[in-house]
Amino acid sequence: MSLSEFQVCDRDLSDQILAAYLQADRLAVDTETMGLKPLRDRLCLIQICNPEGQIVVVRIAQGQTTAPNLKHLFESAGVLKVFHFARFDIATMLHHLSIETAPFFCTKIASKLVRTYSPRHGLKDLVQELHGVELDKSKQSSDWGNPHNLSEAQLSYAANDVRYLLPVQEQLVQMLEREGRLELAQACFRCLPTFARLDLLDFVNLFEH
Ligand code: MN
Repeated sequence: MSLSEFQVCDRDLSDQILAAYLQADRLAVDTETMGLKPLRDRLCLIQICNPEGQIVVVRIAQGQTTAPNLKHLFESAGVLKVFHFARFDIATMLHHLSIETAPFFCTKIASKLVRTYSPRHGLKDLVQELHGVELDKSKQSSDWGNPHNLSEAQLSYAANDVRYLLPVQEQLVQMLEREGRLELAQACFRCLPTFARLDLLDFVNLFEH
């Protein structure tokens, strides 16, 4: 897989790419970090794909605290941001770049609400079942901390995490409509920014007895 299948930007989107992405009604978005704790672990990459399949991988620098074009895009009311497990990506982008992502869709919550016949709700499972593509997740746990030294395999892996997400989301919306659970999914998405804030304050299982 060659690097020409996606573009790499440093620190932020160019104005030209921002303008192009603002034309989209939906974008697939993913992040790569140094780990699963946003307070501890650096945000290293943000990957974006539009419905035409144009992918940009943005390398976030160590100590970077703002990215005005990414903030503009992710806070734009007219562009739906589609994530797999949005709770994490929203929290890490809020913490590191002060981005309050909205509106958004989470394919993991959608899958749990509608694919009740399966216990498997990973991105790989969804892309396999709903899009018929086998995702290579072998670079999932790798060192993203030196953005200028990422291998082609790492960048391809990162790009592929957004490449198939929009068709998967379309299928999930159809299934949610069929099963009468689209409104419930949207209600769940409205709760997610609160979950992200609680995660950043280290509250665990606040709603449990
Ligand atoms: Mn990823």
